[in-house]
Amino acid sequence: MGKIGVLNLCLSLFLLNLQSLARGDSHVVTEFNATEDSKLYRGLVLQNDLEVVLISDSNKHHKAAASLIVSDGFMEDPPQLEGLSHLLEHLLIIQSVKYPEINSLYKFILENDGTMQATTYCDRVEYHFNVTAAKLFPALDIFSQLFIAPLFTESGIEKEVRVVNIEAQHYSEANSFDRLKISKILYADGHPVTRFSGGDLTTLWTNPKLHGINLTSELKNHFKTYYSANLMKLVVSGSQDLDILQNKVAEMFGQIANHNVTRPSYPDPIKPENGSIYKAEILPNFLRKVEDDMLLMDFSFYTDDYINVSLLRQGYLKPLLEYDREGSLINILQNEGLIIDLKMESVNIPSFSKFAELYISIRLTRDGLLNYEDVICRIFQFFNNLEIFGLQDWYWKDSIKNVKTKLSQGVADQVQLVSSISGWIHHLPIQKAINSWYHTNFDPYNNNTWNLILAKLTPKHLRIKVSGIAVVQNKTILVDRVSGVEYYVDTVHSDIANKWMKCRFCNESHNFTLPVQPTVEVDEEFPLFKERQLNSSLSTISFIRYSYCDSSWAKLEIYSPFSYIDPRSAALNSILFHSLKRVLNRVLISDPEITLNSMVQNKNWIGDFMPLVVDFEKPFLISGSKELLSKEIVKQRFVDIPAGSAWLYSQNGVNFHKTSCAKVYLFHISKNDWDNDLIQLTKLMMKAEALNRLRTNETLGYRVFTETYFLNKRTSCVSIAVDSLKDPYFVAERIHSFLRDFAESLKNMTEEHLSTTISTHQSLNYLKNETGANEFIQFYEELIGLREGQTRRLTIITPSVEYATKEYSKADELSLNSTYIKNFDDWKKTLKLQEEKFT
Ligand SMILES: [Zn+2]
Repeated sequence: MGKIGVLNLCLSLFLLNLQSLARGDSHVVTEFNATEDSKLYRGLVLQNDLEVVLISDSNKHHKAAASLIVSDGFMEDPPQLEGLSHLLEHLLIIQSVKYPEINSLYKFILENDGTMQATTYCDRVEYHFNVTAAKLFPALDIFSQLFIAPLFTESGIEKEVRVVNIEAQHYSEANSFDRLKISKILYADGHPVTRFSGGDLTTLWTNPKLHGINLTSELKNHFKTYYSANLMKLVVSGSQDLDILQNKVAEMFGQIANHNVTRPSYPDPIKPENGSIYKAEILPNFLRKVEDDMLLMDFSFYTDDYINVSLLRQGYLKPLLEYDREGSLINILQNEGLIIDLKMESVNIPSFSKFAELYISIRLTRDGLLNYEDVICRIFQFFNNLEIFGLQDWYWKDSIKNVKTKLSQGVADQVQLVSSISGWIHHLPIQKAINSWYHTNFDPYNNNTWNLILAKLTPKHLRIKVSGIAVVQNKTILVDRVSGVEYYVDTVHSDIANKWMKCRFCNESHNFTLPVQPTVEVDEEFPLFKERQLNSSLSTISFIRYSYCDSSWAKLEIYSPFSYIDPRSAALNSILFHSLKRVLNRVLISDPEITLNSMVQNKNWIGDFMPLVVDFEKPFLISGSKELLSKEIVKQRFVDIPAGSAWLYSQNGVNFHKTSCAKVYLFHISKNDWDNDLIQLTKLMMKAEALNRLRTNETLGYRVFTETYFLNKRTSCVSIAVDSLKDPYFVAERIHSFLRDFAESLKNMTEEHLSTTISTHQSLNYLKNETGANEFIQFYEELIGLREGQTRRLTIITPSVEYATKEYSKADELSLNSTYIKNFDDWKKTLKLQEEKFT
């Protein structure tokens, strides 16, 4: 399933050469420069028919980046080998004939300050990476070889099938919020889009063995069929000029074979329309009940106007719906106690010629679930108001202004840029794609676009999925083969449908008004946002307040290592964090540093505002751009964690869920900036090794994260987390064992290797020419406790339970909401006082 990521830039664009020019064997289709981001763009087709967009980016602070998309998604899997294209993605990324060492690319990228990612969708696989600008060409060489001559070894295949299987279990068990699983329910029966996208041990190993299918030769065949240059699109952004980029890219990627394959196409995937509104009601038998009270409203578009669908998602409609301010849809529905959260997204699938979807996903309260038809009515009333009040273009202008600031600060992400352009050229012919990308990003909104989109937001184009519904009478219960979800499909009764039509098409506005332009000049378009590692059994919730004007920030993170163990805790967590988000969004309009001062100076802040956090002894931390926290304060911020100890929670008499998490933190109390750089260097040195050993060799789990945290200028931290099916105590021990062995392996490190690593990372300002191998080894040994030093270690282990059995009541929800909102009102007063003091 694909969405187009679109980078929201505002640039003026000059088309230089619309006529085709020939350069070498490549064929240049278009070329332009965009003055405000000082980048040059060129679209070309290589002699093997590979379509390429090159971006020459002279900003020396930017990394280089590349994105390659191939039209081979899980819809192309042979029916008897579900998950094949996903497995192929895993295999390609690990080795090639020219670079046979396992994870060569990954290792190279990580050692050179980069990140990479590969994902299989229904109609394509996407490969993206970024890397320090000086290392673009060596990285591209390793990257291109994956597609020119991959290496398929029996042991590699067996290992990656196991990794894919862990991934499948992980997703099926840890995340009931998985929209794909749910939304597939209303697709036409037997359509390839309903296939098991990822595959597992059964589809990729056991069944093929049973039926005498040779997996290796199927993989090779599949590669030969679909990894054809004419089915690929490439975008590269680098610091070199366009001609140099073109020569190198043509030399490397020109070697990819072109089999002139016709791109597969499919019938549209939805059930035939007969004028009824389809709904699927999903039974609440999921893992965590509280996460499952969901409503998905899905509007189908039959249009080739992908541009407008994307436009709408990124800029205009989205803030009106989901930014938390007076008069927005989310605000209206939250104030009525009907919903917890609301998001809007769009999906375009190029393999279905004119089909696109736009959906709104809503987490309902109990009231909202019981009255979801009224929630839908409210939403149609809101759309009706939008039509009556017309286009309010201050939203768009505000958004442009903020993006400009962001752009001038150099915050724009290079991976996002290359992947958004590759998304467009995957959809459309290169010239048209670039034009569309341009229009989406740079054209002002107009009433035609607006009306075209509104015309689709009607009950006629609606499909509904609601989960959390318990009462079922006289319905045929179906079970989704892939996700195990139990559900039934029905059509909406005509009385209800008529009521919705009345809400949507009414000559006068309903009794609420649209948001108005705020009078205060604050960065309101960058509201506090909430991150949840829903896919991990260790949940982290963070609130970040960032100002793009002066790069100041304040962050609050709360770890909940046992949210999955006790369903009541999970339920309360959920309410707590949503209440927090709501209130913080409303009160924290002042700048991040004032927020940070307030959080830190009021030492009982956490206790006052979040008694639940303290009651449950959740570790939390506050960080920010200003040096505010002394050692003591940091200690207080970590609740009850003695130095070097493990902090555990486990419970007898419950069935443990199959996914657990072990996370080891190594904190370092720094004396200076030099120390902080050493923490960063530690992560860079061990990230690839950790992945190699814990994920690939020991196959402990699919997700292995190595991260650094800078709590303030004096305290920094490096951590390794592994999500696993194995016993978390065992996993924690394996992480510790890795950390010890890594100390041993460092003894063989050459001075040259160390200085190369340091010099390729622009951020390591303080280490240049200042650090030798011995100093680094000594630092590392202190960090892991082999030597006396200023460090503290923390191990968090999370077993999880099979399913939730306890209920939380409406009364719990209400009392929590009011408690927190009351507390935050008090805090808001404190904040106001502080604001006066500081400004
Ligand atoms: Zn995967």
